[in-house]
Amino acid sequence: MLLLRRCGRIAVALAAALGAGAVAPAPDWSEPCENRFAVLDGGFEGARLSACEPRRSKFVVRIEPENSPINPSPWYAFRLTPKRAGEIEIVLRYAEAAHRYHPWIDDGAGWRPLPADAVRENRRGRKAALRIKIAAAPVIIAAQPLFLNEDYAAWVDALARGRDHARTIAIGESRQGRTLIALLDGAPEKTKPAPCALFVGRQHPPEVTGAFAMMAFLETVFGNSALAAAFRARYDVIAVPNLNPDGVALGNWRHNAGGIDLNRDWGPFTQPETAAVKALLDQRCAEEKGGLALMLDFHSTRRNLFYTQSADETTAPPRFAERWLAGARARLDEYEFEHAERAYSSRPTLKNYIFSRFGAPAITYEVGDGAARAEAEAAARILAEEMMKTLLAPHP
Ligand SMILES: [Zn+2]
Repeated sequence: MLLLRRCGRIAVALAAALGAGAVAPAPDWSEPCENRFAVLDGGFEGARLSACEPRRSKFVVRIEPENSPINPSPWYAFRLTPKRAGEIEIVLRYAEAAHRYHPWIDDGAGWRPLPADAVRENRRGRKAALRIKIAAAPVIIAAQPLFLNEDYAAWVDALARGRDHARTIAIGESRQGRTLIALLDGAPEKTKPAPCALFVGRQHPPEVTGAFAMMAFLETVFGNSALAAAFRARYDVIAVPNLNPDGVALGNWRHNAGGIDLNRDWGPFTQPETAAVKALLDQRCAEEKGGLALMLDFHSTRRNLFYTQSADETTAPPRFAERWLAGARARLDEYEFEHAERAYSSRPTLKNYIFSRFGAPAITYEVGDGAARAEAEAAARILAEEMMKTLLAPHP
């Protein structure tokens, strides 16, 4: 209890000293928290726990965001190293949000969700008790399967390997100096005037289901089908799959290392991550270079949906979202989704920025937090095909 109280006080004092919106340094929970059953720690990329109190046969773990105010995406990730086999309880305590993400576990054999009856929430969700069976191997417990910066690097390399039409470029550095990577379908120097098709992902670190969908989507766009080849001949494909690598590494709920929601920085451009994409757009997608025909921004939320322009906002190409989603819906029996029209507002999201600058369809592609990976990927492949067909079809 002492430990928990002390850390709480330090966090409060730090927040007060730094002022609202400032970011307290991440607590170093590589320091172990230990009882006679196990050692609990957060000494790895993507980890988040803000305090840990060992009890006789359980741990009480406090989960706090990187700074406030913040949207309620209470990410957590920590490791348990067993000392003996048995069952252990972990109580998650939240200060600024309710428990949201069903826990996943990896014991080295791959990620799987904890059984539903192993999680007990109190009524307001400020506490969740997890029962975990431990054997000999360390396990990681996390809010979603971990998909980290090294996983993106491996995926990007695998995609670009052996494909002349897929190459990676560094477009800048994150606040903490991590390389921001873009995938292109052509030369680093643009040689043909062709409209850009822009795909952005992982502005928000916990949104892993959106990342899984995005990778399947891009594998289809960069694939070897005749449709994909025709699409890439006509459009300049630009993808930035991991815009917030610092947030991913730090286990942030939502913000980058500067304590900013990147999806509220498209206009101010105060952060290096958003500024890097803007510079790329200025360089490749200006009017004389062909402009921009489409932007999709991949996220996760409570259910599958697509935020698009409203029906009375004219996009170029016209009625893209309606035609695209109708084509996909006809092929997607199992994947339910909502088409949610949201008119332009002055909120500086990527969607609003792209629509106001280019008049192009600018769509937020949201995947449910609980979507099964294989289903989100299968749907993304179909959505990618329908996207390409719709952009290649004569405009109505
Ligand atoms: Zn998001």
